[in-house]
Amino acid sequence: MEKIVVNVKCPYCKKSFMDLEKPIDGYPSIRVKIQCGDKNGDLYLSSIYGSYNLISEIFLLEDEIVLFFCPECHASLLLKDLCEGCKAPLAFFELKNGGMVQICSRRGCKSHSIDYSDLAQKVSKLYSIYEVFADPSGKE
Ligand SMILES: [Zn+2]
Ligand SMILES: [Zn+2]
Repeated sequence: MEKIVVNVKCPYCKKSFMDLEKPIDGYPSIRVKIQCGDKNGDLYLSSIYGSYNLISEIFLLEDEIVLFFCPECHASLLLKDLCEGCKAPLAFFELKNGGMVQICSRRGCKSHSIDYSDLAQKVSKLYSIYEVFADPSGKE
């Protein structure tokens, strides 16, 4: 089976998430900060698309929703879009060559996708949603 190895970075500060020092499946891992309840730590994900191998500094329960952050700028990597399977927020990473990878933030949920559509458009859509939320009058 053909392997897709993704090379991802922060959609905001553009710092690479690839970690050569903690390889998983023989390839550099994807390092992000996570928060789960009151615990936080580093999480290393396999860069092979479709592999669920990971190393977590903190213990994660099955079905728990994990918050993903950039280790560099600490921006949240969660989207407003929800997982079609379990309705948890999706986390996203920008692909080095454009587009993005989305993974479900719920531990154990195997929903994920690669989207090669225009990321800039997606991010600007995100901002407009934030603006709606920021409006105290509640009108759109
Ligand atoms: Zn960042
Ligand atoms: Zn899910």
